[in-house]
Amino acid sequence: MITGRFAPSPTGPLHMGSLVTALASYCSIKQAGGEWLVRIDDLDPPRQDPNAVNAIIRCLTAHGLHPDRPIIFQSDHAAAYESALQKLAPHLFYCNCTRKQLRAHDRYPGTCRAAKSPLPDRAVRVLMSDTEHGYGDGFLGPVDGNFAAQLGDFIVKRRDGLISYNLATAVDDGNTISEVLRGQDLLPVTAPQRYLMHLLGLTTPNYAHIPCLEFADGTKLSKQTHAPPLNDAIALSNLRAALSYLGFHAPQAADSVDTLLFWAVEHFDLSKVPSQLPKYRPSAPAF
Ligand code: GLU
Repeated sequence: MITGRFAPSPTGPLHMGSLVTALASYCSIKQAGGEWLVRIDDLDPPRQDPNAVNAIIRCLTAHGLHPDRPIIFQSDHAAAYESALQKLAPHLFYCNCTRKQLRAHDRYPGTCRAAKSPLPDRAVRVLMSDTEHGYGDGFLGPVDGNFAAQLGDFIVKRRDGLISYNLATAVDDGNTISEVLRGQDLLPVTAPQRYLMHLLGLTTPNYAHIPCLEFADGTKLSKQTHAPPLNDAIALSNLRAALSYLGFHAPQAADSVDTLLFWAVEHFDLSKVPSQLPKYRPSAPAF
């Protein structure tokens, strides 16, 4: 079964950049007759906005992007993450380094590698092997594994007890999701996530990393860069705009959310998405 997902973190409302990624993932999965899922990556309460989950769900609904199964919440999977940590035990160590100590290094210097027995109040890291972590990306082509080397031993459980995004995502994507289509901002986490799936004996999905939507000055649209939230009341023109950033121009006759999505699913072609998207224009008239 072909299965894809859109996995927003509930740190704020969705913006045009989120819609571009969600739409590309939705279209490619639906075109292949697969199931498209929505997963809320809600494992970092300090960074989360309590209103964001509802706003995200309302927004996806307004834009016709209905998941094929009930929405998944990572916060419901604590037991699965703990059991993954147990399986990973031979590869883990317990790190006491402070941020300050690590600041001078561009990757983790291996300081605590010898601390193999669980110790309280320490971050849990995975020993990153030097083996090759390259893979074939559905959008970028061959990607080498240097990202892993750049990252070094990475954290799977934080000192404050929170499970890392990489571990949670490896557990949730492995075996379950066959196609991960997401933004190129997440390219650096693909090697660690694939490595964790490998250690856990899980099947890795196919990956495609599409360009992120950027402001005119080249910064990526995100909550931190104050990307304006999508206005659900103009869902049709938002969808038209998102499609157009991806390089597809729907006919005016597709004049409802459903007819536009129908057209989009039929015409989407990942190989035609440009390697750089046109820059975001906040006040652009409807495409
Ligand atoms: N939750 C992550 C984010 O919003 C993305 C997860 C993913 O697609 O792997 O950046």
